[in-house]
Amino acid sequence: MNGARAGMFEKVLIANRGEIALRVLRACREMGIATVAVHSTADEAAMHVRLADESVCIGPPPAAESYLNIPAILAACEITGADAVHPGYGFLSENARFAEILAEHGIAFIGPSPEHIRVMGDKIVARRTAAELGIPVVPGSDGAVATLAEAEKIADAMGYPVLIKATAGGGGRGMKVAADKAELENAYLTARAEAQAAFGNDEVYIEKYLDRPRHIEVQIFGDGKGHAVHLGERDCSLQRRHQKVWEEAPSPALNAEQRVEIGAIAAEAAAKMGYAGAGTVEFLYEDGHFHFIEMNTRLQVEHPVTEQITGLDLVQEQIAIASGAPLRYRQEDIRLAGHAIEVRINAEDPRTFAPSPGKVTTVHVPGGLGVRVDSAIYGGYVIPPYYDSLIGKLIVYGKDRIECLMRLKRALDEYVIDGVKTTIPLFRRLLEEPDIQDGLYDIHWLEEWLGQKPET
Ligand code: ADP
Repeated sequence: MNGARAGMFEKVLIANRGEIALRVLRACREMGIATVAVHSTADEAAMHVRLADESVCIGPPPAAESYLNIPAILAACEITGADAVHPGYGFLSENARFAEILAEHGIAFIGPSPEHIRVMGDKIVARRTAAELGIPVVPGSDGAVATLAEAEKIADAMGYPVLIKATAGGGGRGMKVAADKAELENAYLTARAEAQAAFGNDEVYIEKYLDRPRHIEVQIFGDGKGHAVHLGERDCSLQRRHQKVWEEAPSPALNAEQRVEIGAIAAEAAAKMGYAGAGTVEFLYEDGHFHFIEMNTRLQVEHPVTEQITGLDLVQEQIAIASGAPLRYRQEDIRLAGHAIEVRINAEDPRTFAPSPGKVTTVHVPGGLGVRVDSAIYGGYVIPPYYDSLIGKLIVYGKDRIECLMRLKRALDEYVIDGVKTTIPLFRRLLEEPDIQDGLYDIHWLEEWLGQKPET
């Protein structure tokens, strides 16, 4: 079968590793596109390298010298003749300069324009842009807060608690809460120091700290020519240290009208911007109100729950749009059906969350109706200590939330990963909790529960 179509890429280089490299590879295969894997010397035996049509070693284990090494990735494109790059998530996926450099070399970046990456990568500019596009934002400072005195003035006017956030923030870093005036100085200085260390940029701003919100995000797709659709929302409120551990779609907290309303706001904003490709507009939701926090200009870890309830392949859609194809769906063509939950299987101690790299001796993945495992590990694989600890995602789909929870339970019971510690036991325990069964949780629920249940 010849999958080639006019204008479609012939060879895609996947600038990532682990489960997401495999995810992109699968989409390319189904579209008849050849694949190039890149890898560090620590990943020579990785599954994405084994399965790709070609592979190129791009450097030593530290990500800064391999997966973030733009000249090496560019050289790999030139050597293999790749005509497009998919960045996955993390690494170079939100690096506007990388997208520009690829364009300068006639290579397509499978993602939005460098301009949109840049606008949304600066959280202050992103807030301003969102507000201009008609998206409700969290109350906060108009721009950067340059001095402690200024921070005090704004916090006094807005009322405590407040959150100091890094303009360049990501991954929950450079974020500090001040419950009252006495805590402000420490929060302000710590957030700046953390931001400087993590991002090389200590600029911060202030937001009202919402008390008990849920994290609800909308998946959008734009064609870059003024058309955009939304694919419903994901609820990612179960978090530890501002990092998601469990995601579901639809959100147990929204009704059909709220879903349509917030989806339309996000899609209209994307259309007005002329946004191209996949994006996620993230909100905190409290007392019936949505507040924008940020927009991610890339594929998200949790995209599979949206795929399960829409029946669409988001990576294939990204590739199609990047090749210049129009949006293949209008809003009325998108049907949301059933319920999906994703849990993140990390190689970590389920009690202390300390990383647990090393050799995986046995893997048995669950199967059956409505069960999907996105993972790149195999029996005998050695998890290197250099990268994040996500080793798999278990995604279950059911006609409703109850079926989905029962299926998740039985799938977790089937899942065997021996040799390293994983977060599988954490999810088994969570499923016993009435609040989880009822969908009654906010962004603080998990940390409070972990605090009360040290034996977990
Ligand atoms: P990052 O880019 O570092 O992930 P986000 O702005 O997306 O930062 O926020 C990550 C998480 O931090 C949110 O999901 C939420 O749990 C918490 N958070 C962010 N802003 C606020 C706020 N104003 N009030 C309360 N919690 C917040």
